[in-house]
Amino acid sequence: MKLRVINPQQVIDLLPMGECIEVMDAAMRTAAQRRAVMPLRAAMRLPAGGLLGWMPGQMDDPDVFGMKLVGVYEGNLASGMHSHNGVVVLFESAHCRPFAVVDASEITAIRTAAASAVATGLLAREDAAVLAIMGYGVQAHRHLESMLRVRPFTDVRVWGRNPERATAFAQRNAERHGVSIRVEQDARSAVAGADVICTVTGATEPILLGDWLEPGQHINAVGTSFPGIRELDTAAVATARLFVDLREGALAQAGEFQMARDEGAIDDSHILGEIGEVALGRVTGRGGDADITLYKSLGLVVQDLAAAYHVFCKARDGDIGVTTEF
Ligand code: NDP
Repeated sequence: MKLRVINPQQVIDLLPMGECIEVMDAAMRTAAQRRAVMPLRAAMRLPAGGLLGWMPGQMDDPDVFGMKLVGVYEGNLASGMHSHNGVVVLFESAHCRPFAVVDASEITAIRTAAASAVATGLLAREDAAVLAIMGYGVQAHRHLESMLRVRPFTDVRVWGRNPERATAFAQRNAERHGVSIRVEQDARSAVAGADVICTVTGATEPILLGDWLEPGQHINAVGTSFPGIRELDTAAVATARLFVDLREGALAQAGEFQMARDEGAIDDSHILGEIGEVALGRVTGRGGDADITLYKSLGLVVQDLAAAYHVFCKARDGDIGVTTEF
């Protein structure tokens, strides 16, 4: 059996955002149909700081199983490194043997933004033109790229705690994407008048408040994937039509949802559905132009498996990466 190892640059080359959005659309439908086994993500804190996280899973289409294993260290941003680093290991189901080890940092960056693009395509107003990005790290870069693929944004704002980093983000990406990006000094001004808002920070306390939201907005809440921390306050969650990537995951691990429920503002029925269910037409997404819609992303192992398998197939066909008998 050959084992193929695929590095971060090869993932970037083999997983263009447009292709990944299609792969995520299919993966989230597969998840919604439960043609997959998806135990909840687990993590352990490391004594020196950071986390080791692991996400095992199996899916029917493509027919693979495996695990994403990542080290997560928030301090990496200052050193120009990814916050999530690790591998996705793919196994074939006939004899349960591993056949690929794929870099997980770029898989995570690209697939998360692509999944938000699927949600935005389904839930945002068709005429959405103003985009607000809260945060300027790895996910912010990838979300700008993915959002531009699903709506023709003409006005982009970025907000973060450090205006110099926000300015660097704006300068780098305005040129790259040919779009004007304005740095906002405070979070409230960034989201005022925005049609789509992406929260992609490591914040543990709310940075987006329900009081600020306006009819018609769509929010992708991507940061803070653990209980007890949140980017959105209770009012923001309660006022929105809430969709998730996986119901069981959100019930068990989504801080935004759990804290709003614990405060008595909502109950479990506030989760209207999974993005895959909306894609399949089983659940209504946006009900009208005035609705506020919210996609809470925790990340799914099938997103990692499907993206890594897509990369693997292209790498195998082009003989890219390093192989070894295993
Ligand atoms: P980065 O470290 O690259 O960027 C983090 C961003 O959050 C920076 O803009 C940072 O800026 C900002 N930030 C950190 N702490 C705070 C705070 N307390 N208040 C406001 N801003 C803050 O991380 P990534 O872009 O890779 O990830 C962003 C978030 O998304 C993380 O929480 C991560 O766990 C989550 N994530 C979620 C995934 C999913 O599937 N849902 C997948 C991958 C990541 P500064 O420190 O200068 O303020």
